[in-house]
Amino acid sequence: MFVTHLESAIDGTRFEAGRVWTTHEGRPLWVRYDLADVKNAVKPADFVMRVNSLWRYRELLPLPVSAEPVTLGEGMSPLLPCPRLGKELGLPRLYIKDESQLPTGSFKSRGMAAAVSMAKHLGLKRLAVPTAGNAGGALAAYGARAGIEVFVFMPDDTPVINQIEAFLCGARVFLVNGLINDCGKIVREGTDKLGWFDMSTLKEPYRLEGKKTMGLEIAEQFGWKLPDVILYPTGGGTGLIGMWKAFQELTELGWLQAAKLPRLVSCQSDGCAPIVRAFEQGERFAPVFENAKTVASGLRVPMAVGDFMMLDAIKASGGCAVAGQEETILPWMRRVASLEGIAICPETAVCFDVLTKLRRDGRVTPDEEIVVFNTGAAQKYIEAVELELPRIDKDRPVDYEALAR
Ligand SMILES: *Cc1c(COP(=O)(O)O)cnc(C)c1O
Repeated sequence: MFVTHLESAIDGTRFEAGRVWTTHEGRPLWVRYDLADVKNAVKPADFVMRVNSLWRYRELLPLPVSAEPVTLGEGMSPLLPCPRLGKELGLPRLYIKDESQLPTGSFKSRGMAAAVSMAKHLGLKRLAVPTAGNAGGALAAYGARAGIEVFVFMPDDTPVINQIEAFLCGARVFLVNGLINDCGKIVREGTDKLGWFDMSTLKEPYRLEGKKTMGLEIAEQFGWKLPDVILYPTGGGTGLIGMWKAFQELTELGWLQAAKLPRLVSCQSDGCAPIVRAFEQGERFAPVFENAKTVASGLRVPMAVGDFMMLDAIKASGGCAVAGQEETILPWMRRVASLEGIAICPETAVCFDVLTKLRRDGRVTPDEEIVVFNTGAAQKYIEAVELELPRIDKDRPVDYEALAR
């Protein structure tokens, strides 16, 4: 066990390891490790020989090394060079880190693998989550795997695949006529009555640790060097904050070949951009974004308890928060998939609109190594694509010339 304690992100208050914790003053907790101990126990070269999942980084995860994780084989997503897309954008060193290949088709499985493993370890029997979609599907799957009861609350316009996947995994799924914040309120207020544990983004400390492994993987995949820029579609912020935490820990461990860390670019849709607005106004906290609306359901988070952690990380990295245009989402999904065969989610499509902006105004340059995260699978978003394909009548002669036109 390498965890020493937990620590309030807002005021540094310490909490004992190995117990159930939620938030402090309504704000998230960091998990802290004895990194000197970790350094003695493992070397970067050791990881290569280990299991091909995020559990290879056991010493940097909160579950005691002696405990069995709840796993569906999550992690080590491919880092795919994108030469054809990169050429069109004038960014030859472009990569996509493809999280769509993880269990339940999104990076949410990283967080839930860690959090449900800890929930089981700590003896929790009933879990609940408000979700924009993918978190509910992932919690339902890991809950089923662990034999823990799961309640999921989602907005009634959540992508239907998310509704189905949570239902199929045996969770009790409820549709709410509101946004994720309204679902969060229901979970919060039900805690006393039904005795469930609130698995909301950053309201328990361990989903963040699972997401952190994206940063560890990137480092390992680039040979313990890091790229110049990372673009990440930002909702609740665990991905961005988790990666930055990974980079801090790797720096302290002395495992990185170069001291320079990537600039983090937080990407949001102009239909829901609370972090972008706070960044532009130089604020550390982001007020609720009214009338949030975007097909990128994972970005439909009008208010985040980890707002200051995101904004701190973005600033410390020398990065920025930028909004992409909602109307460009579908064209980008098609363009990226057509050029590289990678089926990106609407959230990631937003990143590409942001990337073209950054390229245009010189905030990224052609010599830089750039990673865009594909956080989920396009296949989960049937509502985002309206499609009328040409039809062929099997009883009439086919005009083959016309097919190629
Ligand atoms: C949840 C989600 C996001 C937002 O991630 P955070 O780490 O919570 O900011 C982005 N993309 C997809 C596909 C998601 O499911």
